[in-house]
Amino acid sequence: MNYVGVDIGGKNIKMGIVDDFGKILSSMTYKTQQERGYDALLLEIISNIGKLCEQAGIYTDDISGIGIGVPGICNSRAGLVMSCSTLKWKGVDLAHDVTNLTGKPCKVCNDANCAALGEQRFGSGRNYKNLVFITLGTGIGSGIVIDGKLFEGLGCAGAEAGHMGISVDGEICDCGNRGCWETFASSKAFIKQTKEAVQKNPDSILAEVCKDGISGKSAFIAAKRGDKVAKKLIDKYIDYVTYGIIGLTNILHPQAFIIGGGIANEGALLTIPIKKKLNEYIDNNGFYPYVDVVSAKLGDSAGFMGAAALVM
Ligand SMILES: [Zn+2]
Repeated sequence: MNYVGVDIGGKNIKMGIVDDFGKILSSMTYKTQQERGYDALLLEIISNIGKLCEQAGIYTDDISGIGIGVPGICNSRAGLVMSCSTLKWKGVDLAHDVTNLTGKPCKVCNDANCAALGEQRFGSGRNYKNLVFITLGTGIGSGIVIDGKLFEGLGCAGAEAGHMGISVDGEICDCGNRGCWETFASSKAFIKQTKEAVQKNPDSILAEVCKDGISGKSAFIAAKRGDKVAKKLIDKYIDYVTYGIIGLTNILHPQAFIIGGGIANEGALLTIPIKKKLNEYIDNNGFYPYVDVVSAKLGDSAGFMGAAALVM
């Protein structure tokens, strides 16, 4: 059977048709332009489903359901988008509106949860029924899969590991609390740490790499050129990421952590030291069994593939 998955982001909407085995039959990406408003966005998604079917060489009758990921808080049981500041949506009856317009079953869910489900069904998490997906971006997005199902908490407002507090005296986070994990371990935080290191070490290779602009990659580029400042910076950042992962392990002890987001492109440079530190900790405390740490595999397709998996 075939399913439509839609991943609505602040910048882009990515959508595609996926079959039960995770094969992508067709897909497209286009600008969100949220300023056009909810109705225009909705009608465009519906019309693009027709285009995707055409591309895939199937009829719209062959679509069994539509899943949609939204960057906000969704009540996935009721099909509602409770609040989405990126799109300026509040209390939107998205699943019912889609069903009314298409006659197909529709489910909505938070975008990071969709990506977690996508990786668990079709990506790096395929061998695991219990995992935590973490995406290191502007913030830290997360999704928890237990026994092959998303764990969303009361009102589907849970599984927000990025806002797990790790320092009472830390910086104020966007959520209003202090010292959330994402204020230390998001890629935004890493870029800030890189800037500080450059200011303190103006003669380093890192400072030279950052002359034309600082990104999450700068420190990794400098480290590959042997820069000690950059290596120290990366080690500290890995400590921040691992610190949160150890906290989550103490609560959930999943089989694996799947790491996504731009920095995850560094792959083994990031996952191997995290896995080593985590499992040393587990070993020291006798908390067997060991926990795997791997990079996400599906990139920005995880969201729409996971959204499709919502209706499988
Ligand atoms: Zn927070």
